[in-house]
Parts: sequence; structure tokens; C-alpha cells
Amino acid sequence: MQLPAEMKAIVYHGPGKKAFEERPRPALQKATDAIVKVVATTICGTDLHILKGDVPAVVEGRILGHEGVGVVEEIGAAVSGFAPGARVLISCITSCGRCEACKKGMYSHCADGGWILGHRIDGTQAGYVRIPHADNSLYAAPPGLDDAALVMLSDILPTGFEVGVRNGGVKPGDTVAIVGAGPIGLAALVTAQLYAPAELIVVDLDENRLAIAKTLGATKLVDGRDGRAVERVMELTSGRGVDVAIEAVGLPSSFDVCQDVLAAGGRLANVGVHGKSVALKLETLWTRNVTITTGLVDTDTTPMLLKSSLAGRLSPRKLVSHELPFGEMLKGYDIFEHAAKTKALKVVLRAG
Ligand SMILES: [Zn+2]
Ligand SMILES: [Zn+2]
Repeated sequence: MQLPAEMKAIVYHGPGKKAFEERPRPALQKATDAIVKVVATTICGTDLHILKGDVPAVVEGRILGHEGVGVVEEIGAAVSGFAPGARVLISCITSCGRCEACKKGMYSHCADGGWILGHRIDGTQAGYVRIPHADNSLYAAPPGLDDAALVMLSDILPTGFEVGVRNGGVKPGDTVAIVGAGPIGLAALVTAQLYAPAELIVVDLDENRLAIAKTLGATKLVDGRDGRAVERVMELTSGRGVDVAIEAVGLPSSFDVCQDVLAAGGRLANVGVHGKSVALKLETLWTRNVTITTGLVDTDTTPMLLKSSLAGRLSPRKLVSHELPFGEMLKGYDIFEHAAKTKALKVVLRAG
């Protein structure tokens, strides 16, 4: 069969500029590569950061996107785990599986990978994508999960779980505050429930997102629009504070809420992408036995998340607010960029 030489893709053209345009179909470059036909992709908050010009490593002409589900079209000579025709989940993290970081399970710091899709190499918001180190960077897609549910496992579910819930050490009976109810905060909310915490307090400034958090398992909601979020959380915990505070916004104000509500022995797990310094309140925290964690998603929990989703323990599809055909990619961006108005969570684009 003759494949088309061209495909449509979302291309970055410098700060504030993107286009949905024709690009040549990617070709294998190394024996460990696979070419995947994208059947579903989604837009990430990180893509919006790139479009603002916040991620200088992204050069003009780069195809965006690091999340996707697809079908393997071609494989390099060294790929043994997947054959053409296999339906696959594309991890947002590419990993060789052999370097020192990979051997520690820290795939995000892979010497020949990490977050490169839609960043240092062309990404998934396209008809086809080249996946380096395909054996380690793709996952067999179980037939029981549809494309829209599955694409939540490329990035947001592992990120919310690993960087929020796991780094925060959420345990049975814990009181957890999640600051920020965007897709990542909500991913932390749903995956935290795997550990049966006693309370899941969600803090946000958007009524709609708080209402969604409630349907996804939040036990208490705090609308922080009046600037009294810290007071409210302290009231809800009888002045004790929370065992785990998950920061899922990336602003000094949201980080402050987290450090101000930590109970003695508390753990602050930062997930938010910070563009500015925060003031660490060591003058109060030094006696409080607290732990602060940071990190990039490694996606080493993807197999576990796949199994939990298949078993119905997680419902990733609930994080999808909009589904559009692939050709409406620009409209998808528009919806995602105006989330407060459109009530967007994850916007999924499907190939026809
Ligand atoms: Zn992302
Ligand atoms: Zn590696």
C-alpha cells in the first residue's frame, strides 16, 4: 500500500503562532524507531506554555504534542516488542531503557530521551509520529480501553499519580489537599483514591472545576477566590493542617497555600510548572518535619495505571470534556485555551 507522503500537523511558528498545515510524513531514522499513525491525541497545558514562548528549546517548525494513541505503521530493524498494526499508547516520556537514569527507573532523565516529543523532536499532534526507542517508549494498548480514555495515560494520569500522589506519599487515612483542579490536579485526585485517603480537599478558583472535582471524589471543596483558602483548609482540618499538599498550579500563590496548610510531618508534592521563584517559608517550616518533593513524570507507573484502568479502578475517560475530529485541531486549541468559559478539561482529537 502506498502511504501518503504528506500529513496535517500542528506546527509551532514562534511565540503566539501556530498553524495546522501540511508536513512531510516522518521516516525511520534509527533501527530503534517506530513510525506510528496517530489515532487520538490531546492538548496539554505544556503546549500552551510552549506557544507563549516559555520553552525556548522548542524551535520554529516543531510539530507539537506529546500525548497519543496510535497504530504502528513501520518499525526499525532493532524493534522487537511491536509489529506493524499494533495499537499502542505513546508515552510522553521517551526512554532507551539502558542508560544510568533509565536503569534507576528515572526515564524522565534518559540520556537519549526524556520529554522530547513535541519539544526537541516532532510530536504527536500530527497524522504520524516517529517514536525513538520504540520498545521502551510505547505500550501495548489493551482492547478494553477506548482511545479517549487511553490517551489520558500518555501524560496526565502518570504525572498526577507519580509527581503528586506517589511523591506525596499518600497513605490510607491521610488528609490530602490538592491545590488546582485542572486536568493534572484532577488526575492526582482520581489516582489518590487508589490509596484510600480519609479526606481529599480540592482548592480552586473555578466553580465548574470544583463541581467536577466533587463528582470525581473530592470530599471537601474550597473556593479560593476570596483569598481565604488557607483559613478554610485549616478550619476543615480543625486547625491541624493536611498530611499531603499537592501543588498542581505552578504559581507562587498556590505554592504558598500548600506550605501554609501542611500539618507537622506533612509532605508537599509540587507538580505545577513554575515560571517564577517562590518564597520558601523556612522560618516556620524548619520545626515542622515537612518534606517537599519535585519531579518530572517518569511514566514507570504506566503499566500499573493501565491495569487499574482496565479493571475499572480508575476512570480516565471522565477527564475528557471535549472530543473533536482531527481536522478541528485549531478549534480544539481554542476550546482548551478558554477553559474557564468552555469548561474544558482534556480536549481529545481523533483521526477520522
Ligand atoms: Zn503534557
Ligand atoms: Zn535512557
